[in-house]
Parts: sequence; structure tokens; C-alpha cells
Amino acid sequence: MKKTILVLSAAAALIISGCASHEAEVKAHEQAEHAAHGDEHENHWDYSENGPAHWEEFSQTCGLGHAQSPINIVPGKSVEMNHQYDLSMHEDIHTTAAVIDNGHSIKVTPKTGGTITLHGEEFTLLQFHFHGKSEHTVDGKRFDMVAHMVHQNPETKQLSVVAVFFKEGKANPMLNSVINNIGGEIDVDPQDLLPKETAHYFHYIGSLTTPPCSENVQWYLLKEPVEASKEQIEAFRKFYVDNERPVQELYDRVIESN
Ligand SMILES: [Zn+2]
Repeated sequence: MKKTILVLSAAAALIISGCASHEAEVKAHEQAEHAAHGDEHENHWDYSENGPAHWEEFSQTCGLGHAQSPINIVPGKSVEMNHQYDLSMHEDIHTTAAVIDNGHSIKVTPKTGGTITLHGEEFTLLQFHFHGKSEHTVDGKRFDMVAHMVHQNPETKQLSVVAVFFKEGKANPMLNSVINNIGGEIDVDPQDLLPKETAHYFHYIGSLTTPPCSENVQWYLLKEPVEASKEQIEAFRKFYVDNERPVQELYDRVIESN
């Protein structure tokens, strides 16, 4: 009897979800996401009791890694960009995107991602999300907010994150659309998140800034910030204000700049 109920409810679940293959597709995508930005379900890390000082308990790399992110950028100590790693961005894709509060940030997952190219390799945009203050600092200074655009090379699985700093100023249409549609879907063109000028950035090799803190992540921090209004920054911080990891040791890494 119990078995019958289980079978029936499983069948009902399939009917409700509409399409089993779509479900599998979503699941595969979620797995790729977890690989990209930690697993939200298995690990109960956070920014308070189980905050950054405890993340080593979730993944050793967070405590032992020597190529962790974020870091403080000292522009005066950066070296000339290795031009093989110049960043070329192709984010101009009109698509729809799911907006969710994943417990660590507000995350936007476009149906179709744009791409970036570096070192002759193409990386696809998986998702972007926001932090209530920038995680990287420049000369010790935090920006008012930051967006992290997480990309992955579908073949090597390597990740590359483009950071877009926000400073207080004019209202940001993209941010409005995100904040007003948490739990829903938006029409989006990820290029709208970018500043006009994307040719100047800092580049270095770091890690995810959340558990499992996986390394070998290509970081690009765009030098020109975008703007968001005071009201928008406050509205975002009602959800998240302290979701930034403290800056990590640089060790022997080099920061490139152009
Ligand atoms: Zn992030």
C-alpha cells in the first residue's frame, strides 16, 4: 500500500513538473552551478556563526590554499598585462533569467549565457550575483557593491569571474529589475551590467570566494565602476550586507593590469 502511494506520488510529481527531461536538464545545470559556486544544500556555511573563519571545516582549501580570493589590489604594485590573457567580452545576449535568493546572495541565472574569451579559450556566463560591498579592495578601499559574473569553460571546467564594481550615483535599471523580481524571471541582457569601458582591468589567478574556495579561477576586476542609487544599495543591503569574505593573503601571486 505504502509503495503504491509512493509510485503514485512520484508519477504526480512528474506530471506537475511537466517534463522529466526538462527536470533532468535543470538538475544538470544546478550541478554545474554548485561546482561553480559551492553547494548550498550540503554545506551550512554562512557569514555569521559558520562564517569565513570556519569555512576550512567545509573545505580545507578555504584555510590552506595559497591562491585565495578576494585580495587587496595595490595598483602601484601591479605588472603589465600578459596580453595572451587579454579579456574579450561578448555578453550582449537578450535572454530570460531566473532570479533567486540562494541564502548567500541574490543570483541571476540567464537561460542563454554570453561568452568571454581569454587565452584563446571561450568561457560561458553561468550566473551573476551581488555582494553588499565589494569583496576585493583597491588600495584598501571597498566599493559600495559588486556584481560577480561567473563564467566556465565548458571543456576544461575552469572558471573565470568578471567583477563589476558599483559606486553610489545614478539608479541602475538592471539592479531594479533584479531586486524587484526575486523568485521570478526577468528579461535581461548581461551586457547592461557592464560599464561603458571594459578594456581596463586587473587580472590575477584566485579562487571562489565561497566554499569550496576552489582555486585556479581567472579573475578580472573591471576598473571602471558602474553606478547604483543610494536607495538601490540600501534596498539590496536589506537582503545582504555582510556577504563578503575578508581579503586573503597574496603570497607569491602577481597582479596584472592594463
Ligand atoms: Zn561572488
